[in-house]
Amino acid sequence: MGDLLFFFLENMALIIALMYLAIKSKEAILLDWTDPFKQRIIISAFFGFLTFSIMYNPFIYEGMRLDLREVPIFFISYVGGWQYGVLSAILPTAFRAYLGGPTMVVGILQAILLPILVGSLFHDRKRKDQFFGILNIRKMLIAFVVYEAIKSVWMIVSTPVNLLIVVGMFIFAMVAVFSMALILNGENRSTLLKEELEFYSNRDPMTQLPNIRFFKNNVANLVDKQLPMAIVMLDVDYFKIYNDTHGHQKGDAVLRSVAQILMDSTRKEDFVARYGGEEFICCLVSPNDVHEAEEMADRIRKNIQEFHFEGEEQQPEGVLTVSIGVSYTKGGAPLEEMIEEADQSLYQSKRQGRNRITVFPGIMVESNDKVFN
Ligand code: GH3
Ligand code: MG
Ligand code: MG
Repeated sequence: MGDLLFFFLENMALIIALMYLAIKSKEAILLDWTDPFKQRIIISAFFGFLTFSIMYNPFIYEGMRLDLREVPIFFISYVGGWQYGVLSAILPTAFRAYLGGPTMVVGILQAILLPILVGSLFHDRKRKDQFFGILNIRKMLIAFVVYEAIKSVWMIVSTPVNLLIVVGMFIFAMVAVFSMALILNGENRSTLLKEELEFYSNRDPMTQLPNIRFFKNNVANLVDKQLPMAIVMLDVDYFKIYNDTHGHQKGDAVLRSVAQILMDSTRKEDFVARYGGEEFICCLVSPNDVHEAEEMADRIRKNIQEFHFEGEEQQPEGVLTVSIGVSYTKGGAPLEEMIEEADQSLYQSKRQGRNRITVFPGIMVESNDKVFN
């Protein structure tokens, strides 16, 4: 009996160890998990191999090969559905057929085909994330008990096993399938949490725009590549008056609308961020020349002017507008310098009456060597 106990313990350890190894090496191998076909093949190949390695060294009892092969087959069918189950079962079925013996057919039916059937019947078809989401472990265990109950009764009536072996297998199989689910959920939970943290640490919570840290990191790459670009700084005109008239809540709504207009007015390769307060910053990537950059920035200004913000009639000019400063480079200018130039230009736009755009060096040229570089 002790042998049997340690045998199943070994089987369980193998399942857990390989599962853990596969999950941990997932990122290291750098596979393209976005291709559903490749994903199906790779995951099924792994489960096929796992089942095969469990079957390779079985516990022989009265000519029967006993092992926990049903665990990975059930698990993959429950998580991924019957197609995954069938694909994973090819190698183990072929191996079992190759070995032959008096219990070959019953061994394939009970421990390979039946787990695919029960697992995929309980598989949640609506779940899109499958192997990358969080499993409902309770539902999975109920499904597994259903499978094990059918299999146990079938084994007792069709094979020479005794009740003790059946109960022992049942308990170990339960622990093994439970461990697989815990490993998968643990890994996926930390991946999802990491993605969420990354998302929120790069974003301004109010407008959902990227924050300035994320912006600077991305634009720094463009600077390194010496690409032409324009930095556009925007500041809402008379925003204090808007807040004083309509309250901060409405003011926040204006900032969210401005953020949306900025996203809609720029191309997907451009970068937009909330700089802070009621100031925003954009990086227009590879404009043909300074004039094109100016035109693009002016389109943003016009789109904001034309948008109807609630209560904007009470603003000093009767509309809510922004002032803009632009700094342009053909490539290679340090980002901090460009931000500084755009900021100076923005200040000029404010001084000259607001709702306008100034391209550095603007009219306040103090030294003539500052030309577009
Ligand atoms: P100017 O045309 O010169 O830019 O005038 P202004 O009133 O916009 O400029 P000022 O810098 O005096 O005021 C900016 C205001 O923006 C003050 C502050 O209360 C408001 N503000 C900054 N951040 C937020 C925010 O997150 N939400 C709201 N509702 N208001 C904000
Ligand atoms: Mg301001
Ligand atoms: Mg302002």
